[in-house]
Amino acid sequence: MAEAATKTKQNVDFSRIREQFPVLSQEVKGQPLVYLDNAASSQMPTRVADRIDAYHRNEHANVHRGIHTLSQKATDAYEETRKKVQQFINAEHQEEIIYTTGTTDSINLVAHSFGDRFIDEGDEILISEIEHHANIVPWQMVAERKGAKVQVIPVNDDGDIIWDEYVNLLNEKTAIVAVGHVSNALGTVHPVKKMIAKAHEYEIPVLVDGAQAVPHTPVDVQDLSADFYAFSAHKMCGPTGFGILYGKKQYLDKMPPYRGGGDMIDKVSFEETTYNITPHKFEAGTPPIAAGIGFGETISFLEEVGMQNIADKEHQLLSYGTKQLQSIDGIRIIGTSQEKASVLSFVHNNIHAADIGTILDQQGIAIRTGHHCAQPTMRRFNVPATARASLSFYNTKDDIDRLIEGIKKAISIFNDS
Ligand code: PMP
Repeated sequence: MAEAATKTKQNVDFSRIREQFPVLSQEVKGQPLVYLDNAASSQMPTRVADRIDAYHRNEHANVHRGIHTLSQKATDAYEETRKKVQQFINAEHQEEIIYTTGTTDSINLVAHSFGDRFIDEGDEILISEIEHHANIVPWQMVAERKGAKVQVIPVNDDGDIIWDEYVNLLNEKTAIVAVGHVSNALGTVHPVKKMIAKAHEYEIPVLVDGAQAVPHTPVDVQDLSADFYAFSAHKMCGPTGFGILYGKKQYLDKMPPYRGGGDMIDKVSFEETTYNITPHKFEAGTPPIAAGIGFGETISFLEEVGMQNIADKEHQLLSYGTKQLQSIDGIRIIGTSQEKASVLSFVHNNIHAADIGTILDQQGIAIRTGHHCAQPTMRRFNVPATARASLSFYNTKDDIDRLIEGIKKAISIFNDS
């Protein structure tokens, strides 16, 4: 188990924690806000906003280049985040933590750089049927460039991958498996540890899209034995524009840079340029320094709450919400895996998801409707769109009750019209 996973406190007072998110105490459309769009982006506690503000007010300078005190302070604070991330996901080496602008950027980095070095004509890239577009399109792009092929692991009607199909698809042509840890559209938790172990029997590396897992559950990349693991700060109470790519050193050291520019070089001349070492060779140009420093504060905050406490609280809310939703006539939950995290995706048999979303918004309830950047998932379940309520640890049973009342109201409006 990761150190981070065991570092939890019992009996956390979540109502006190909720008070640290001022955005949640506002009214929307004359009603107290119920924020259930956490899978798109979660809210930020005051201390993270304050940390970012303090950097802008008192500490701003560029990192890595300056000899002066302010620049060195900014560099120290920015690099401190790398240590915190390393511990948070239990990476073996600090150099395995690469700063990116988010999950999308992290996956594109691997598709591009790993793809350049390790994917050849005729190779196969294996993804699941319920991936976010960010874990589909970059692979299609590299496949096109290299003459490789994207293969798809099907899921069953609950939204679980079909294990035998997965095993059958692994073969000597498979260059990489790229799979979401938790589906943003359905909430399915893929059995990534088992999937990675199976792929490793064939010496195939695995990238895990952890955008929807890291905010909700303890993650230990060494325990999973993931070769690459990607996530975004803004889905875990941190700032936008910042994310992480974890990669095993054995791959990162062999992968070429993804973007060229300042900071990623060793020596530059017109005849020949040599590159910096990992992770800096993947971090060209001035980075989002404020966001990086703010993300360090975010991790301290999450560790104080405790990732296992967060997982437990969200599980209680998910079970309660699932039961309540199931009790409403005409509602069908899309994504009924036994292993789910924080997502309630649903449709009504004669009201479009967008209409449900609009009527909920009129009651101050924020959910998301549409294809959730997962059009193939919608196709698999034969729906154009779903309504999705996605949870965070600062949500309450009362938020779920308001959601359920809001849906009932939407149904009654439509039935009366
Ligand atoms: N993968 C998954 C599973 C996601 O939910 C998201 C965001 N919805 C992404 C990737 C992309 O994340 P970002 O937009 O932060 O790059």
